[in-house]
Amino acid sequence: MFGKVLIANRGEIALRVIRACKELGIRSVAVYSDADVDSLHVQLADEAICIGPPPASESYLKIDRIISAAEIADVDAIHPGYGFLSENANFAEVCESCKIKFIGPSAAAIRAMGDKNAARQTAVKVGVPVCPGSDGVVADEKEALKIAQKIGYPVIIKALAGGGGRGMRIARNDPSLVQGFHAARVEAEKAFGDGGVYIEKFIENPHHIEFQIVADSHGSVVHLGERDCSLQRRNQKIIEECPSPLVDEALRRKMGRASVKLCEEVGYENVGTIEYLLDDGGNFYFIEMNTRIQVEHPITEEVFGVDLVKEQILIASGNRLTPGVANPRPRHHAIECRINAEDPYNNFQPSPGRIELYYTPGGRGVRIDSHVYSGYTVPPYYDSMIAKLIVTGSTRASAMNRMTRCLGEFLVKGIKTTIPFQDVLIRSAEFQRGRYHTGFVEEVLNSRLSDFSPPPGGPLL
Ligand code: ADP
Ligand code: ADP
Ligand code: MG
Repeated sequence: MFGKVLIANRGEIALRVIRACKELGIRSVAVYSDADVDSLHVQLADEAICIGPPPASESYLKIDRIISAAEIADVDAIHPGYGFLSENANFAEVCESCKIKFIGPSAAAIRAMGDKNAARQTAVKVGVPVCPGSDGVVADEKEALKIAQKIGYPVIIKALAGGGGRGMRIARNDPSLVQGFHAARVEAEKAFGDGGVYIEKFIENPHHIEFQIVADSHGSVVHLGERDCSLQRRNQKIIEECPSPLVDEALRRKMGRASVKLCEEVGYENVGTIEYLLDDGGNFYFIEMNTRIQVEHPITEEVFGVDLVKEQILIASGNRLTPGVANPRPRHHAIECRINAEDPYNNFQPSPGRIELYYTPGGRGVRIDSHVYSGYTVPPYYDSMIAKLIVTGSTRASAMNRMTRCLGEFLVKGIKTTIPFQDVLIRSAEFQRGRYHTGFVEEVLNSRLSDFSPPPGGPLL
């Protein structure tokens, strides 16, 4: 087992990994930018090393500074969290060449599955359905037009290196395709340093269903069921639940088998997530794999009674799958809300600043993963997520009632948060019935302004 682990991340996920290390008896090393001096991950780790100024490109994304910190602290392994360098094959390779274990898959597996187009081709090879689309990178607008004519409108233009819902454009006709093609390329180049894009058939109002995979270094690959992440704004998830109200046992078996097969094909090790779109006819299409721990991993943990971050560390140090993961048994229903520092009454403008008062809900079946506290200042440089509120119930109905109760108890004063909007979504008839798709959030925002207006006298929170 490792003696010391460095966490190459910030925010709630850094804290999540530090907590797992503590419980496993491993010393933890935090890294932080100048903007995060007061962050909880800095205070709770056994050691903390400053790696640069606030912009991520100068700190959390700087491979040489993180490796220097790891060498100074003399760690055995690095946990990358999600975002930042977590899906950077080059970073995984540098770690290995410095004899530091990267807690995640091999650089080769990241390359095979992290590049969206390579992953699509692997899926095709093993017979897992993908959305009809281009065979690879689309070189120019002439080729884009040819592909769109072949598969038929609407189509979606996507960045090869995409993530976090960026670098995507929908086109419903030739002029919008030409415009979207160039816009997506520019956006992808800016966001990911790689302007490569590909084209897929745009599925109207699908469900986003993803499978949790866990694989050890001894050849065992299992799936821990699915999560429904169809509630998205601008292709970014805001509420997730496990299991999906739409997936029955037969479909779960079919999609689960496909997911395991994909991982076996690339010799995948550690945790990962296979994302699909599911249409109302029960047809599913592979869209991408995330070769890392996912933001919404806690709902799977609550349903299956496992600890996926500890499992990651144990797998990386050569252990076999723990019994609860090797023979997974779902027992509950869980829902997560990503609480963001954004103003839902003002087009979700980011709302950084000082949190005057922070009071979280408690009681049975409630879990909060968060790095903030009363008096903490949310910096403007990073992701706007300040907390994950996770509730568990013996049935879907009890989990929904618990979520409504918790959103009502949650107090964040000083900054704006998405809490009032999530409250509207959870209470909507569509969510209550389990009938919602990836277009539902926009529908609510466009046509139900009366459901969603600030309470008299201005927003409560
Ligand atoms: P998940 O599928 O786990 O919900 P997201 O796609 O929402 O993951 O991304 C998780 C986090 O990682 C977010 O903070 C997002 O902004 C960030 N992220 C995702 N992809 C990238 C990337 N390629 N580069 C930088 N940050 C990314
Ligand atoms: P990211 O890497 O940003 O997470 P994904 O490929 O996972 O990108 O897509 C994110 C979201 O965009 C999906 O959950 C879905 O809502 C939407 N999307 C992606 N591809 C398609 C498609 N072919 N048809 C319809 N919606 C899509
Ligand atoms: Mg995705």
